[in-house]
Amino acid sequence: MRDFNIEFPDDAACLEYVKEQRWPDGMVPCSRCGKKTKHYRVGNRTAYACQFCGNHIYPLAGTIFEKSSTPLKTWFYAMYLMGSTRCGISAKQVQRETGVTYKTAWRMFKQIRTLLSDGDLQLEGPTVEIDEAYYGGTRKFKRGRPMRGDLKKTPIVGIVQRNGKAIARVVDHVTSNSLLKTVRKHVVPGSVIYTDDFNLYHGIPHMKGPGGRNLQFTHYTINHSLGKYVKKGHIHTNSVEGLWSLIKRGIGGVYHSVSREYLQGYLDEYCFRYNRRHEGNRQFKAILLRASRVA
Ligand SMILES: [Zn+2]
Repeated sequence: MRDFNIEFPDDAACLEYVKEQRWPDGMVPCSRCGKKTKHYRVGNRTAYACQFCGNHIYPLAGTIFEKSSTPLKTWFYAMYLMGSTRCGISAKQVQRETGVTYKTAWRMFKQIRTLLSDGDLQLEGPTVEIDEAYYGGTRKFKRGRPMRGDLKKTPIVGIVQRNGKAIARVVDHVTSNSLLKTVRKHVVPGSVIYTDDFNLYHGIPHMKGPGGRNLQFTHYTINHSLGKYVKKGHIHTNSVEGLWSLIKRGIGGVYHSVSREYLQGYLDEYCFRYNRRHEGNRQFKAILLRASRVA
């Protein structure tokens, strides 16, 4: 917290940081006169001007900060909190600590979450674990198949590289098709895949890629229903269950209740942190980098 205030004492410091992320070497060719220039801040505006012709550039254009009336430092602080907690942070806490309204804090988090997707991540390696979980309904978050009457639950597929990265995706239905589609998108061919013995996973060794070639997955299953959680040493899904418990603790403890519409954003937030769990306080900078980037 002290470090945060030293590095980002005010809105100007935050603006300067965003500018440096977008134009890293400081000297950039002016889009109007073409001369290499260091742009200078224009008064109190969020603009910088070319030293030769006065042409303005706007570091916040196209970012989540652009149209916001919330001070830039408050945004940075919200991202700082998001990057430095393990379980997640509530809008209430930001409301308390910064004085913005609950609604503003909630909206900021929603927008920051849109930056956190690792949705294109490809998982590979000798061991990849896959499992589904369900969110919503009476029992908030649960791994394993829903019972009849739990059909309002939202299915989530989790894929975790053992000792590595993870993704979690909301899917419309748990069908063989949707599960295998997620596997095809996120797991590198030739990987060894561990699941429980749910029959929808049985197609994994037969999965085909472009041109009809077999994707060469090796598939091991664990029979959870018989309580054989860790039967033969390496055949387990402890990593993906670790991810589920992290999500469960987080959503249960911090967010209380999440609608289906926003669930993917929360999953992205948890996976973003999970995937950078060894990076310590660099998580905050990773979020800042994404926030400064313009599509
Ligand atoms: Zn110029």
